[in-house]
Amino acid sequence: MSTPKIYLKPGKEQSIQRFHPWIFSGAVKKIEGNPADGDVVEVYSDTNDFLAVGHYQQSSITVRILDFNKNEITQQFWQNKIKEALTLRRSIGLYPNPDTNIFRLIHGEGDNLPGLVVDIYGNTAVMQCHSAGMYRSRNDIAKAIVAEFDEEITAVYDKSAGTLNLHENFNPTDKYIVGQPPAEKVFFEHGCKFEVSWEEGQKTGFFVDQRENRKLIEQFAKGRDVLNTFGYTGGFSVYAMHGGANSVVTVDSSEKAIDLANRNIELNFPNTALHKGIVADAFDFLKSSNQKYDLIILDPPAFAKHTHAIKNALQAYKRLNLAAIRNLKPNGILFTFSCSQVVSRTDFRNAVFSASAISGRKVSILHQLTQPADHPINIYHPEGEYLKGLVLEVK
Ligand code: SAH
Repeated sequence: MSTPKIYLKPGKEQSIQRFHPWIFSGAVKKIEGNPADGDVVEVYSDTNDFLAVGHYQQSSITVRILDFNKNEITQQFWQNKIKEALTLRRSIGLYPNPDTNIFRLIHGEGDNLPGLVVDIYGNTAVMQCHSAGMYRSRNDIAKAIVAEFDEEITAVYDKSAGTLNLHENFNPTDKYIVGQPPAEKVFFEHGCKFEVSWEEGQKTGFFVDQRENRKLIEQFAKGRDVLNTFGYTGGFSVYAMHGGANSVVTVDSSEKAIDLANRNIELNFPNTALHKGIVADAFDFLKSSNQKYDLIILDPPAFAKHTHAIKNALQAYKRLNLAAIRNLKPNGILFTFSCSQVVSRTDFRNAVFSASAISGRKVSILHQLTQPADHPINIYHPEGEYLKGLVLEVK
C-alpha cells in the first residue's frame, strides 16, 4: 500500500521549507489515501514538490513533521533520533553525570520529534506522547531508547493517558512498556536527592526544566528567609537549604505536594528545623501573611493554555507578583516564572513591570531565565520557548 499523501494549498509550503514542524488543517488542499490517525504521510506542495514526511492526525495540527527528506520511518529512524538527542545530552555533561541522573532526553519539536517527551530518571525512561503517531510508535521508540543507552535503561513507563486527549479507540493506559518499576525511586540533581513518582506525580513526576534555575537559588539563599510558593516537590526549597538559607517555607495548595516536599527536605536534611511545609493557596497565603521574606519564589502552573486566556493570565501574573513584592523585605530577591507557552517574554515582563510600578518599590532585573539545554527550542518553532523567568532585586 502506498503512503498517503497530503497536498498543500498554494503558498502554504513556505513555512515547511523553513522547517516549521507543523502543518495546520487550514493549509491542506487535498488528502489522498485516506490516512488514519497516527499514520505516516508524505507532504507535497500544490505543484507536486515533495516537502516532508510526518505523522497525520485529524486535528488542527494535521501533520507533525518527522523528516524533511523522503525517508521511511523505520526502527533505524528512531534509533538515529534517539542517538542524536543523547549525543547532545552527553556533550553538555548531562549524561553520564555522577551528580545528576534526572534529565530530559526528548523535548518534542526542540529535538525534531514533535509530539514526544521523554524524561530520564536513573535507569527509567518516562514517555509522554502528545500525538497519535508517537503513541502508535511507542514500542519502537522504547526499543530504540533501551538500545541506545546500552541497556542502562531497564524500564520505560508510558504516561500518555493524560496527554493524548484523543479518541477512545486508542484507549491509552499508563503502564510500563519495558521492565518493572525500580526498587527505589530516589534520584539526583546537582547532588540533591529527590523522590520522584511518575505514576502519581504531575507531568512525568518532576519539573526537570527548572534544574539550572533551582541551582541559581543557592547563590542567593545564604542567611535569607525564603518563601517557595507553588513548591510541588520542594525543589527550590532543597536548593535554598543547600545554599545556607536561614529558614525556608514551602507553600502548595496540594497536600500531596507538601508531603512530598517535606519528604525531600528530610532526605537531604534529616531532622532539620529550618523548613516548614504549608498547604495553602499561594494568593491567599501572600495576601494574609504578616511575615516578610528575603527571597520569594513564584513558580505557578501555566495561567494561560490558549491565546484567548492571555489577558486574564497577565492580570493573574500581575496580582501574584504584586502580592509577592509586598511580602519582600528591603533588598529582597524575587524569582518569578511563567511557563505559559502563549504568554510571551515581553508580555510577562510587562506584567511584572506593572506589579513593580504599583508597589512603588525600586526594582532591578538581575537575571533573565529560561529553560535549560536539554529542553532545546527549535528556532523555526518559537512556540517551544515556554519557560520565562526573572530574578529581581526589590529595594
Ligand atoms: N516549583 C516546582 C514546580 C511547580 S508546579 C518545582 O520546582 O518542581 C506548580 C505547583 O503549583 C503544583 O504543585 C500545584 O499543586 C501548585 N498550585 C497550583 N495552584 C496553586 C495555588 N493557587 N496555590 C498554591 N499552589 C498551587
